[in-house]
Amino acid sequence: MPIDFAAKKAQFHLPEGVVYLDGNSLGPMVKTVPARVDAAVRNEWGEMLIRGWNHAGWMAQPRMLGDRIARLIGAEAGTVVLGDTLSIKVYQALASALDLNPKRRVILSDTGNFPSDLYMAEGLCRTLGGQYRLKTVAPEEVMSAIDESVAVVMLTEVDYRTGRRHHMADITRRAHELGALTVWDLAHSAGAITVDLVGARADFAVGCTYKYLNSGPGGPAFIYVAPRHADAARPALSGWLGHEAPFAFDLSYRPGQGIERMRVGTPPVLQMAALEAALEIWEDVDLHEVHAQSLRLQDQFIKGVESRAPMLQLATPRSHLMRGSQVSFRHPEGYAIMQALIAEGVIGDFRAPDILRFGFTPLYVDEDDVARAVNVLTRILDYGTWDRPEFKQRAAVT
Ligand SMILES: *Cc1c(COP(=O)(O)O)cnc(C)c1O
Repeated sequence: MPIDFAAKKAQFHLPEGVVYLDGNSLGPMVKTVPARVDAAVRNEWGEMLIRGWNHAGWMAQPRMLGDRIARLIGAEAGTVVLGDTLSIKVYQALASALDLNPKRRVILSDTGNFPSDLYMAEGLCRTLGGQYRLKTVAPEEVMSAIDESVAVVMLTEVDYRTGRRHHMADITRRAHELGALTVWDLAHSAGAITVDLVGARADFAVGCTYKYLNSGPGGPAFIYVAPRHADAARPALSGWLGHEAPFAFDLSYRPGQGIERMRVGTPPVLQMAALEAALEIWEDVDLHEVHAQSLRLQDQFIKGVESRAPMLQLATPRSHLMRGSQVSFRHPEGYAIMQALIAEGVIGDFRAPDILRFGFTPLYVDEDDVARAVNVLTRILDYGTWDRPEFKQRAAVT
């Protein structure tokens, strides 16, 4: 059944007068979330106290919700677990992947990757005693840079700045042909585009839930380990909840079964409650259709901006095959322009040095929103209203 996008939009809380084009940074609130979180606080924590771990299913939640996310990223049941933040999950996946490919010393990534992923890789290389090296190449050079020195190809499928999309299946195939493993970051994929981890034969994948999956600020991250590696992958962050028998309180670590070993410590129960409610939105949703509609909205936006604001330069590839769910334009005064837009209720974000970024998530963005965003943006540029001191004052979070 085709998605009733208007009905989906009605399930989100959006502040009056706001066009929200920043779900790629922080998804909006699903209307059922406050009641679910309130119930978790009052009825579970408040009334059950410590008994909540067993009676309210808190301990099982990271796996249960992992299974629901697995369906959105083309993963098998029992291969995804939630917890920690994405940076931590990147570290875990990368450490295990390197350990599974012990003869090699190079981590290959690209210069479009999110800095935290690169920083975590650098930190891991240092921890491993400096024998490992992180090599970054331009996104379009990744394929040709895979060679027999590479242990792990670590990439974010959709570039956080430009929206450029890597071909996961082709890159994974190439990596495997040359004896490398893959770690895919799905931060800008999960809930935005069709992902087929099984079909692509991905080895490890990670992602966050507070962007397209709308779990709220600080929501838990997820990690996927292919079943063929799950019982061989050795966790670098060997916390007690990844132990085979956490409540045996053994003095030494034995990894848990399969994906359980990628758990570290106590799960964020209240954030899990928010995520659980937010995930109900996806029950009947086909991501092919979501992405197709996102591409229609993106095309409407690109066409409108290019015809009326030619001073903005498109940073996103034109090919649908190479796009995720966002469109970015460059302008030297991008920061001030974005602040002026936000002041008028059209919320996107800015990424240094000059990128204006707009996410098109059709579950709560429609054609009228896109038309309004184009109108407001072109008016700001035509009248130069961005050129005011208050719009140039950099905030801590951009
Ligand atoms: C958003 C994002 C992160 C953020 O990591 P946190 O640990 O959740 O703060 C990391 N990597 C990528 C690719 C992202 O898009």
